[in-house]
Amino acid sequence: MRGPEVSVVRFTCYRCVHCCFFTEERECPVLLWYEVPYFRKLGEFVGVELRLKEVGQGFYRVIVSGFCPFYDVASRACRIHEEKPLSCRMFPLIVNLSSLEVASSLMCPWVYANKGVLGELGGESLEQAFPEEFKALREVVRVYLVSKSAPKLAVYFTTYFKELASEVIRSISERYDVIKVSESSVVEGFYYLLIEGEVDTDYLDKLLKRDEITWYKLERVPPIS
Ligand code: SF4
Ligand code: SF4
Repeated sequence: MRGPEVSVVRFTCYRCVHCCFFTEERECPVLLWYEVPYFRKLGEFVGVELRLKEVGQGFYRVIVSGFCPFYDVASRACRIHEEKPLSCRMFPLIVNLSSLEVASSLMCPWVYANKGVLGELGGESLEQAFPEEFKALREVVRVYLVSKSAPKLAVYFTTYFKELASEVIRSISERYDVIKVSESSVVEGFYYLLIEGEVDTDYLDKLLKRDEITWYKLERVPPIS
């Protein structure tokens, strides 16, 4: 026999300032290790210097007092909305990475207003209520799990030649296990790749050292202990 129907609500962000304004360090946004160099560089491009504190297991807290430096108060919006950190994308969902238990944060007024219905939802319905946020949450869990294995190499480069960028990304992807590729939607011509396993950096230097690539950087990322 089926149990009583629970009507599934769908999360609608009120665009209040709660998740971009911070009064306590423990609430500040969190970056995964592989996001750190990317957001540092993105910050440089948009005139923001990030203050970070390592909080263990590959996570770093952005230390903020007041509005997040990426928040635009006038338009009440995140300046890097299209590519904001995963922890911001998954909010108001929260996850315990040891037990993989998922919950929604009562700090969010939408969650608070719907806490009665949300309290009755199981995992699958919670995913229906927060489809986009769940995708980000899955990505956090995936990256967290792969972080514990082989070392990685982060590759950043800037170029205004899109075809060249695609060719470089293709060449690297054919040769190595690329676990993440990003083209910035905030800063034109800024690309980021994350490679797993051993990498021949001389090969990458040769590939990236050319006039059309205005800047590049290779950065080793050790596995999380
Ligand atoms: S606290 Fe909730 S409703 Fe407010 S902006 Fe954040 S996610 Fe949206
Ligand atoms: S990165 Fe964007 S969404 Fe995240 S806290 Fe800052 S302004 Fe808010």
